Amino acid sequence: MTDYVRQFKPFSEIIGQRRAIKFLKKVMASNKIPHAYLFTGIAGVGKTTAAIALTQAINCHKPMNYEGCGKCITCRQIIHDNFIDLVLVAPEGRYIKIDQIKELNRSLQFKPVSGRYRTVIIEQAETMNREAANSFLKTLEEPPPGNIIVLKVTEPLDLLPTIVSRCQKVAFRPLPSNEIKAWLIRELHQDKKRASLTARLSEGSIGKAIQISDSDFLEHRQESLLKLMKLPELEPESAIEMALEYSGKNKKATEDSMKRDPVIFELLGLWKTWYRDLMLIRIGGTEEQLINIDFTKKLKTLSNVSKIEDFIDSFMILDNAQRELIRNPNLGLLMENTVLALKRRCRV
Ligand SMILES: [Zn+2]
Repeated sequence: MTDYVRQFKPFSEIIGQRRAIKFLKKVMASNKIPHAYLFTGIAGVGKTTAAIALTQAINCHKPMNYEGCGKCITCRQIIHDNFIDLVLVAPEGRYIKIDQIKELNRSLQFKPVSGRYRTVIIEQAETMNREAANSFLKTLEEPPPGNIIVLKVTEPLDLLPTIVSRCQKVAFRPLPSNEIKAWLIRELHQDKKRASLTARLSEGSIGKAIQISDSDFLEHRQESLLKLMKLPELEPESAIEMALEYSGKNKKATEDSMKRDPVIFELLGLWKTWYRDLMLIRIGGTEEQLINIDFTKKLKTLSNVSKIEDFIDSFMILDNAQRELIRNPNLGLLMENTVLALKRRCRV
């Protein structure tokens, strides 16, 4: 669940990122726009939207208060997604490869075609492999004028420090659950109960909240949590069968794994929320802090069945499995080990 819908919005309509936007405007006012920004934060909190709004503001013919006018030719091109000087670089497969960076370096040598500035947005900048990162570093050291590079990353520690130090950092924070809930009710006309659950599951990401709302995520979630609850009663053979079902059995093609890995990542994350809630109840947290609010009663009952250490261990098993998944292991084996480890650890 990481490919969120890209939608144009001016700065004034971006939700919950007042600080980041204020900073971007302040820099524009100082007339010292850096050649590279590093936008940090989880997916779906407005990083790309802000980068596009920035492109509009710095290229607009009649900007007002550091916002695009929305009417001039450049603004209209940006709004309709046909502005030629807005370039997106995204991983091809798992990585951003050296060839993509070489191609980018070449194109940056030319002046922007129609705007004053060309903006290059680098999605998941942490996926640059070493070769690509080194090649990109040279561009960052001597960037051709007229270009603004926006690197997007969840966590700056995943990037080479030499890259981080050459960029102006702007942090995009996760949104408070209440703000997302209010937005879901207002914009998507969801009822309060559904909006509340969706907001809690979205982990502060409006993009994720939209995706949950547009898919059958909530139904799948229900099913996955029920399976997790049944795990302690299953025979080991059935538990392995369940793990293999999730990992897609004998499918080994890379394409399949590209599609399946994010689904498994989500599943592991969802199960983490279950143990997180159990821990929370055990340490005396309030109902208001629960994620799986629709299972409150069940969670309260189950929280007394196992030791808190078991909940912590189970959470860590899932957290480690998520990390392993990124390193591209054997998915079948990973799920098998994870499910059996959970089964051993918990009575719930
Ligand atoms: Zn304009």
